[in-house]
Amino acid sequence: MRLFIALRLSEEMIQSAVSAVQKAKEKGIGGKPVPADNMHVTLAFIGETDSPQPVISALQSITFRPFRLSLDTAFTVRDMLWLKPESTPELTQTAESVRSALSRAGIPYDRKPFRPHITLMRRVRGTVHLQPVPETEMTVTKISLMQSVSSDGKTIYREIYSVNAAEMPKQHE
Ligand code: ATP
Ligand code: MG
Repeated sequence: MRLFIALRLSEEMIQSAVSAVQKAKEKGIGGKPVPADNMHVTLAFIGETDSPQPVISALQSITFRPFRLSLDTAFTVRDMLWLKPESTPELTQTAESVRSALSRAGIPYDRKPFRPHITLMRRVRGTVHLQPVPETEMTVTKISLMQSVSSDGKTIYREIYSVNAAEMPKQHE
């Protein structure tokens, strides 16, 4: 099975991402839009592996607090259109925790430096740089283990496990 670890997006984030695709098209960008359901931020790409169990165990060793994720600009990179989330210490730290847990467990993953992005389009022709997309924020409360399944030239992702953020202490009024 083909596995990766990702942050899934709220409906509102997906709507903003879809509107960025629309803007890019209006600016003459052609290509293959990523289906809304497939939009995500990859934290670590594992690739082909026999069993998810070691990855699940590694994820169970992680603790993290809920954190805010917001969107910045969208731009073409090689033949893709990327939407960048605002780079925050919490986001970088979360990717680091995931990757260290995989390393500790001896699970191979792609070690290219973490460049947080949401892929919006592939096989893009043309270049574009869109100003910050409409103010959208979400709270990340889980990290997802995703299985990538391809058939008939279509790729879908299935969440096979997730680890939740540690609860924040209750605020007293
Ligand atoms: P397809 O490859 O079928 O066109 P896809 O790229 O969406 O579709 P996967 O290749 O399974 O599907 O990738 C799943 C996720 O992992 C995507 O976010 C993809 O960008 C990312 N990814 C794929 N390969 C790597 C890699 N070698 N290093 C880092 N991230 C990767
Ligand atoms: Mg791919």
